[in-house]
Amino acid sequence: MSEYEGKYDKRLLGIWRCDNCDEVSKSSDLLIAPSPFDKKDIVVGCQHCNGINQFTALCDADGCLRPATIGTLTPDGYRRTCSEHRPETKEVSDEYDSL
Ligand SMILES: [Zn+2]
Ligand SMILES: [Zn+2]
Repeated sequence: MSEYEGKYDKRLLGIWRCDNCDEVSKSSDLLIAPSPFDKKDIVVGCQHCNGINQFTALCDADGCLRPATIGTLTPDGYRRTCSEHRPETKEVSDEYDSL
């Protein structure tokens, strides 16, 4: 998996909502394949509608289906949340709203 570098890991975390059919999937349920355009990249597909690369990351708080807008590194690992569920630690990134 290291051949995909960091970009791969980001898309294998958390919960995603398909922008095409609104299906909510765990990252482990998404269809992931090497990109035919760039061997260092991947394409991510929706099992429900077969849409490709059109997902919104959702807040990882239990039961929250709002888009995740904040990435936070916590003692328990990386969290991706909406502003309401933001853990009280240092903000590390805000670019997780879409693929
Ligand atoms: Zn879909
Ligand atoms: Zn939330």
